[in-house]
Amino acid sequence: MDELQPFLHRTRIAYFSMEIALRPEMHTYSGGLGVLAGDTARTCADLGLPVAFVSLVARAGYVLQEIDASGRQVTRPNPWQPEQWTQPLGAMVAVRIEGRDVWIRSWLHLLVSPLGSIVPVLLLDTNVEQNSPSDREITDQLYGGDQVYRLKQEIVLGIGGALMLRALGFDIETYHLNEGHAALLTLHLLRGSRRHGTTTAAKRGYDHDGVRWQCVFTTHTPVEAAFDRFPYPLVESVLGPYIERDELEQLAGPDALNMTRLALNLSDYVNGVSRAHADTTRLIFPGYQVHAITNGVHAPTWTRASFARLYNAHLPHWGLEPEVLARVDQLPDEMIWSAHQEAKQDLIARVKERTQVALRPDLPTIGFARRMTEYKRPTLLFSDIARLTEIARKHPFQVVFAGMAHPRDEHGKDLIAIINQRVHDLAAVLPIVFLPNYDMRVAACLVAGVDIWLNTPLPPLEASGTSGMKAALNGVLNLSVLDGWWSEAHIEGVTGWAVGNGSRSHAEDLYAKLEHTVLPLHEGDRTRWIWMMKQAISRIGAHFNSHRMIRRYVTEAYMR
Ligand SMILES: *Cc1c(COP(=O)(O)O)cnc(C)c1O
Repeated sequence: MDELQPFLHRTRIAYFSMEIALRPEMHTYSGGLGVLAGDTARTCADLGLPVAFVSLVARAGYVLQEIDASGRQVTRPNPWQPEQWTQPLGAMVAVRIEGRDVWIRSWLHLLVSPLGSIVPVLLLDTNVEQNSPSDREITDQLYGGDQVYRLKQEIVLGIGGALMLRALGFDIETYHLNEGHAALLTLHLLRGSRRHGTTTAAKRGYDHDGVRWQCVFTTHTPVEAAFDRFPYPLVESVLGPYIERDELEQLAGPDALNMTRLALNLSDYVNGVSRAHADTTRLIFPGYQVHAITNGVHAPTWTRASFARLYNAHLPHWGLEPEVLARVDQLPDEMIWSAHQEAKQDLIARVKERTQVALRPDLPTIGFARRMTEYKRPTLLFSDIARLTEIARKHPFQVVFAGMAHPRDEHGKDLIAIINQRVHDLAAVLPIVFLPNYDMRVAACLVAGVDIWLNTPLPPLEASGTSGMKAALNGVLNLSVLDGWWSEAHIEGVTGWAVGNGSRSHAEDLYAKLEHTVLPLHEGDRTRWIWMMKQAISRIGAHFNSHRMIRRYVTEAYMR
């Protein structure tokens, strides 16, 4: 384990996440939560912070998406080979699942920052010969299987991850739980905190405060129904008598083991991912102190080559210190415009290659890419086809969609089918393409290559949102419902535009903004458009980046 040697003594913080987007070839992520974890890891590497990352190996990946002839999503497994990007570590640990020992090993990925610093990432794997065939599959599928499968994964992640760190020789002071999936880690710490020989029967000697002191929790979910929740009989059959039932009920809720409640009760620092989301969390869980360190994105990862060259030439420290992007508003218009044209050509070439459709470089292009699910309302643009057609005739534009639905989200899959039906129906008046298989690579191309980034979530369900931050780094203007991060970044007509901030319905306002503000501006006033691009980069890029986010986590959460 020589590879780990440099990290063992310095690492003090462990960041646990069910998914993590390290690089496109490693299929250990599905969407925004994983991208945030990956951007966090990249930033910790840049800043040389003493953090190790823990996730699952997800050999079968999330899913690969194809669109069939009828426009519906079809998915296949999306496996990858850990051997290609990681090295196996020798240590093995066991967790108890359904009364058996399930053995876990780990794979080490050394994530190297653009500046050459490294953070270690451990990917947990139950595919070892000591385990039965079904236990070997526990760490295979990201967000796959049923509730029993999910609980087993969460035991491996939370309890197995903590055991693994210890077995490898790490001495961790602070555990950061990225979402509730790893919350069983708190139970592992609780068991370890027990003061033997104590007679305080009520607390059985558990040192709650000691555990809380070690835990930082970031919640990402703004609706109660979406929290991971396991019925106690299930917990008892899978996890066994790990912690007494009445103790669990106290910590994780009386009806079922609610992972968010458990993490809230055993973390000293709780964070929502935007101010609006922190407010929502306080409403769901009255009485808890919830902080609001708003998410950010890793600027060097999400800035397209043409803009990165421009920033390198004029603001050489932008990668490590994205605050200097505030000065982008001083750069000449032609430079911004030509960097944007290059990014747009990249996207047009990719669309041509993937879909055979030739988009036009001169037309304003709207991008919409995110998980296809009800609350994101991807079909809001199609609420009134006659109106949309009329606008497209008056002010021609084109649209690029991308996004996957969870294989069990029937409504999400229907939304994809509806979009593809509209692609077909509107072909004569409004060019629309659907790019399959939304992943880090498609995202990087799309957020930079369109002109307008559209987001229409149903408030308050977008906890933060991060793709609009990526767009802004590339001078792409946000047109978005005021929810999550956009409530903090939006300045009307300066950094972008809001949808639905007046008395009109969201659909009505979207059409009005497109018809009277956004499309005419793109057509008629390039100087003002480029001025807005510069405002977006300066004001959003300089603030909504992961360097600012991590520096705040360090000073407010880790060093509390
Ligand atoms: C950035 C990103 C997301 C998250 O974007 P949201 O705006 O939060 O929906 C999801 N998937 C991929 C592939 C991304 O790159």
